[in-house]
Amino acid sequence: MPPSNFQLAGWTTRNHPSVMERMLRGLSDPQMISFALGLPAPELLPAKEFAVCLDRVLQKNAVSLQYQPPLRSLKSHIVRLMKTRGVETSEDNVFLTSGAQQGANLLVHLLLNVRGDVILEEKTYTGFQQILKPFDPRIFVIPSLPNTGFDLEALSDLLASGVRPTFFYTVADGHNPLSLNLDLVKRQSLIRLARAYKFPIIEDDPYGFLNYDEMPLPPLLALDSEFVLYVGTFSKILAPTLRTGWVIVPEELMRQLGSLKEAADINTATLNQFLINEFFETQDFTSHLLNLKTEYARRRNSLSEALIEKFQSFARWQNPANGLFTWLEFPEWVDTEKLLEHALAYQKVAFIPGHLFNVSESRAGSNCVRLNFTHARTETIFDGVGKIASAIEEIGFR
Ligand code: PMP
Repeated sequence: MPPSNFQLAGWTTRNHPSVMERMLRGLSDPQMISFALGLPAPELLPAKEFAVCLDRVLQKNAVSLQYQPPLRSLKSHIVRLMKTRGVETSEDNVFLTSGAQQGANLLVHLLLNVRGDVILEEKTYTGFQQILKPFDPRIFVIPSLPNTGFDLEALSDLLASGVRPTFFYTVADGHNPLSLNLDLVKRQSLIRLARAYKFPIIEDDPYGFLNYDEMPLPPLLALDSEFVLYVGTFSKILAPTLRTGWVIVPEELMRQLGSLKEAADINTATLNQFLINEFFETQDFTSHLLNLKTEYARRRNSLSEALIEKFQSFARWQNPANGLFTWLEFPEWVDTEKLLEHALAYQKVAFIPGHLFNVSESRAGSNCVRLNFTHARTETIFDGVGKIASAIEEIGFR
């Protein structure tokens, strides 16, 4: 309900609670098996290590509780971390943020005017769609292709027809929700287009460090550091509530980003910066990450085994090389929104219907679901898939 005594900004009249928000309200039920959210495995969050780090930080650094400039030594750890992905950068290009969400948000504020032009692919991370709402942009939508990512030809045609986007947003590794990685040719072609038509690419990369196969490709940033504005985060590789991430941008953008950051929240929580810095200095980050990847790959495989058991000739999916999700496609007649309603009420299992990620009103993907495989343990994954299969039969889709 709008307040009666004063008016809200115009964009709020276009901002209705999404179907996603409504559906997720039921998730607090402890009996519910949820494949819905992008949650890390709770038992792999390094709580004990952080307890040690917190104690040390507070013993030796009372300034960690004080207003402070961003911690340069944490930036150095990020520079080294990026090197493991083939990115050469420096502390002067690293800007600390309160998570990837804020990183993307600040970049959008840096680039986009109200009612500016944006090209998005049909299936786009909903948190990014939320960032755009107050800007009321003119959005040109290109298709998302299920196995290869955004439709490069459609992008190229739009650009050739004269559309000039203020940026192009993409998740090159572990796309959310489609859970695919762009191939090298597409990465290179996108960068060629960005250079030719002079638009920046926002590379949102929460999942690039969570690769499960042997030969990860370089992020877009490794291919171009002028047109690619990179967004990274510790959310999925350490803990989401640290709310600490970073962007990597050309140095001349730092001052403007600084103004935006001050307006947003002054600084990324200093205590958390010190904590993560301490983690890098005194704990074994490399084996922590390896541990995560090993367990997540195992859970990804368990999900696949459960899907083979229940849906082998009924649904299609690919094992993702990165990230937290598997994208599952049922036959066209399966309406996954109806299925979800039934599954929540009678089977107590949750997932996200595919069309809820659409930028447009299209129902493309309404026969698909996004399943998270990192939060639940193997037995629960098997139970949950069994419950989805039962829901499908009970509702008569099979
Ligand atoms: N971008 C994408 C594609 C995501 O999936 C998420 C997390 N769901 C975020 C950004 C936000 O991450 P953070 O917790 O670092 O803000």
